[in-house]
Amino acid sequence: MAGVTTVRGGGQPQGARVPLIAGNWKMNLDHLQSIAFVQKLAWSLKDARHDFGAVEVAVFPPFTDLRSVQTLVSADKLPIVYGAQDVSRHAPGAFTGEIAAEFLAKLDCTYVVIGHSERRTLHGETDEVVAAKTTAALGAGLIPLICVGETAEDLETHGASAVPVAQLNAVLESLPKGTDFVVAYEPVWAIGSGQAATPEQAQQVASALRAAISERLGEETAKATRILYGGSVKADNIAGFMRQPDVDGALVGGASLDVEGFSAIVRYQKHVGV
Ligand code: PEP
Repeated sequence: MAGVTTVRGGGQPQGARVPLIAGNWKMNLDHLQSIAFVQKLAWSLKDARHDFGAVEVAVFPPFTDLRSVQTLVSADKLPIVYGAQDVSRHAPGAFTGEIAAEFLAKLDCTYVVIGHSERRTLHGETDEVVAAKTTAALGAGLIPLICVGETAEDLETHGASAVPVAQLNAVLESLPKGTDFVVAYEPVWAIGSGQAATPEQAQQVASALRAAISERLGEETAKATRILYGGSVKADNIAGFMRQPDVDGALVGGASLDVEGFSAIVRYQKHVGV
């Protein structure tokens, strides 16, 4: 991906960061449904002559779907990549119910989502756990997609950037320069609420996150790292986010479960003016 130069929605030069549109299915679609979905998505994008080198497309199905998605993608040589929604921080061993990073790598996962707000809130994942999971993912050759974001209360008390930057810094401490990772800025108040951040709000936080990466890992790593926005992204608001210089894609929840809707988000360059 590095070295590919694209022109993004709105005509701003984007340098070497290839935009990534990622669908987080959460606990939706079983393994049979996943096969039908990925097949239809690939057809839809192929029909529309989507350039996968210009905008990368990833899906994050439940664990039980991954083998089916791997088999389909590899048999049909589909240009869609995939990953898991979580990973254990532990190496294989006596950890009932957990999934090791090595197992995901064996299924040819490219990415793994780490620290989604639903994991932080519903499963008590701390910054320390998120950092340990990131280290485990990198050790197995996976690209961690690290989620950060503030609650409505955080926003009111600390402003938009403070909490996401602190959450990211907690992970950056343990990463060497040049690490390949993705950050998703997902304000908790925007997830599943239908109330997305404005593109300007997303840009402001994305820029602060990039500055934090630069401070800890150097400018080169900061320039190469993709920062996504997530939170009520739809086909009719994606273009505004993609026009922002520090927003390099989207993590999409609800709208990623509809093939045509997700396909339209991936093809945001076709409806920049929307
Ligand atoms: C998410 O869960 O990561 C997300 C962004 O959800 P939604 O798009 O539904 O707000």
